[in-house]
Amino acid sequence: MTPFVEALQGRLPGKVRADSAALDTFQTDGLTAFHERPLAVVFAETQADVVQAVRLCFESGVPFVARGSGTSLSGGAVPVAGGVVIALNKLNRILALDPRARTCVVEPGVINAQVSRAAAPYGLHYAPDPSSGPVCTIGGNVAFNSGGAHCLKYGMTANHVLGLKVVLPDGEVVHLGGASLEPAGADLAGFFVGSEGLFGIALEVTLRLLPKVERYATFLAAYKSLEAAGEAVAQIVAAGLLPGAMEIMDRLAMDAAEAAVHAGYPADAQGLLIVELEGPAEEVAAETPRLLALLKASGAYRTEVARDERERALFWKGRKSAFSAVGRLSPEYLVQDGVVPRTRLGEALAAIHALSRRYGLRVANVFHAGDGNLHPLILFDAQAGEAARAEALAGEILRLCIQMGGSITGEHGVGLEKRAYLGEQYAEADMDAMLRLRRAIDPRGVANPGKMLPGGPGPAPIGEPPARA
Ligand SMILES: Cc1cc2nc3c(=O)[nH]c(=O)nc-3n(C[C@H](O)[C@H](O)[C@H](O)COP(=O)(O)OP(=O)(O)OC[C@H]3O[C@@H](n4cnc5c(N)ncnc54)[C@H](O)[C@@H]3O)c2cc1C
Repeated sequence: MTPFVEALQGRLPGKVRADSAALDTFQTDGLTAFHERPLAVVFAETQADVVQAVRLCFESGVPFVARGSGTSLSGGAVPVAGGVVIALNKLNRILALDPRARTCVVEPGVINAQVSRAAAPYGLHYAPDPSSGPVCTIGGNVAFNSGGAHCLKYGMTANHVLGLKVVLPDGEVVHLGGASLEPAGADLAGFFVGSEGLFGIALEVTLRLLPKVERYATFLAAYKSLEAAGEAVAQIVAAGLLPGAMEIMDRLAMDAAEAAVHAGYPADAQGLLIVELEGPAEEVAAETPRLLALLKASGAYRTEVARDERERALFWKGRKSAFSAVGRLSPEYLVQDGVVPRTRLGEALAAIHALSRRYGLRVANVFHAGDGNLHPLILFDAQAGEAARAEALAGEILRLCIQMGGSITGEHGVGLEKRAYLGEQYAEADMDAMLRLRRAIDPRGVANPGKMLPGGPGPAPIGEPPARA
């Protein structure tokens, strides 16, 4: 055991582990392609524990990474070589819920879905709804500016965070934003959201709550081609409708979801569009025939409307379980998270299909179409030597997004996986501004180094032993 770990244990007795079981468990996250054994894992129980751990790391120049539930799909929560993992799951209290102000103050380890459950008795809900909502934490959502199916209408996490209490990388504790809907000064809470753990650790988050939706109408529209489903999305928005959600699944994703949860998706469709209208009952009733007409005009050969809440839940269950269900089709898969302008979705899908054929790897598509947010799932078998090819194909898809005027990430963060591409999306001066901000806030570079910004240490990729075990 190193003197640093001994010092950490001295400051936080009973809350630090450096045994193999703990270190192995925390060496990876949802992107299992990368792994790195940490020096130690801190199981923080209070905000003071987090501050203590961060201060010691700063003093000793030891890197740290905050960890919520570890569902990052871009390697954001993978440990840094020679560093510490600060696990936040035990900081899971809802500290205050004010139904009149429609705000809620939570600790970072609170699970996303738990916020809406707590708000439900007051007729309120928390809008950002990542598919991982039943397991991921608000701290992780803040760090990645996470989104979900209904973020088309309501915006991403950034639009729902009013204030933050944060421990900066040097151990100082600050408050950014506040409880007011109209904060004073620069939007520093907004600046922290999406910073991927590079600007410190969120200790408390003040969230905005919204009234519960009065009525939903959920539609399935089946298309003979995936591109046609993609084109329909732009047509619906251009016609002036703003559904709560618009999601697309291709045949492969539907097959996986059907096998896993029997959602009742059409067996002969090549593209499936799930559209959900939501809002006041009268508005939904008026928009329903307009939407049906638009779906038919865009080439849908079959449309269905959920008859009741049970059927609505089933339509969504297929979509929400699609990522894990695709695991049935292949030993491994990579989830990409790029964005293209909504008007170019059809074109992007056709290009991804061509790339999939060129690389000889299957790609399943399931994504938040309304935002132009693609989630191609690249299926591969590392044992058969396909891992590098899968990474290369993922990189080509990111470049395609940049060329089309989109972005290399929609909601999963840049993490480790995409850091090399950030410089392709931004100009040199933009990158320099980001690096200067980083240095100003974290002069010793201890907070999650090697993530988001290019350069820095990197853990071992697929199939190789960790670089510094
Ligand atoms: C099946 C599946 C479906 C998913 N669907 C979606 C989706 O629809 N939308 C979406 O956006 N994402 C989705 N994700 C990705 C992931 O769940 C989200 O990005 C989520 O926000 C990560 O939360 P977490 O608690 O697991 O964070 P972790 O994976 O533990 O950490 C993610 C990042 O946040 C940082 N971090 C964690 N806590 C803090 C904190 N308190 N302060 C500062 N930094 C912190 C970590 O250092 C890391 O960089 C999905 C993942 C899976 C596996």
